[in-house]
Amino acid sequence: MKDPNCIFCKIANGEIPSRTLYEDEKFRVIMDLGPATRGHSLILPKEHYANLYEIPEDLAADAAKLAKKLAIRMTEKLGADGFNIIQNNNEAAGQTVPHYHVHLIPRYQNDGQHILWNPGEMPAEEMDEILNTILAD
Ligand code: AMP
Ligand code: ZN
Repeated sequence: MKDPNCIFCKIANGEIPSRTLYEDEKFRVIMDLGPATRGHSLILPKEHYANLYEIPEDLAADAAKLAKKLAIRMTEKLGADGFNIIQNNNEAAGQTVPHYHVHLIPRYQNDGQHILWNPGEMPAEEMDEILNTILAD
């Protein structure tokens, strides 16, 4: 299913031109227009799913396999020193385009990016309470 109001549906299905580095029947992979680093790209499913909660498990698995393949290729071709694979879900997590996508971000020593979180601290009781909440039926 495509969403007629979704820009990533249009890009993924070729209605809007993009710099495409990979395409098959399920996905188009494009260069991000606001790249965090040299080579930052996005895996876009051709079908519309807003996020990880909505995308079918098999398609998410195919996206993960493709991410691994492209990370290896891009690392070699671009001479990257490392790689971040990031996938944001909902505004609270930084998602700005509500069409599932996977960020492929080659990393370079001293590339000036800060794609990590601030480490926190938490009392042991609170850790236990969270764990029990997740484990509860
Ligand atoms: P997110 O914040 O995870 O939803 O990521 C959205 C990403 O899409 C950002 O990195 C944007 O730079 C990128 N982006 C937005 N519009 C376009 C576009 N038309 N073509 C390529 N990348 C885009
Ligand atoms: Zn879409």
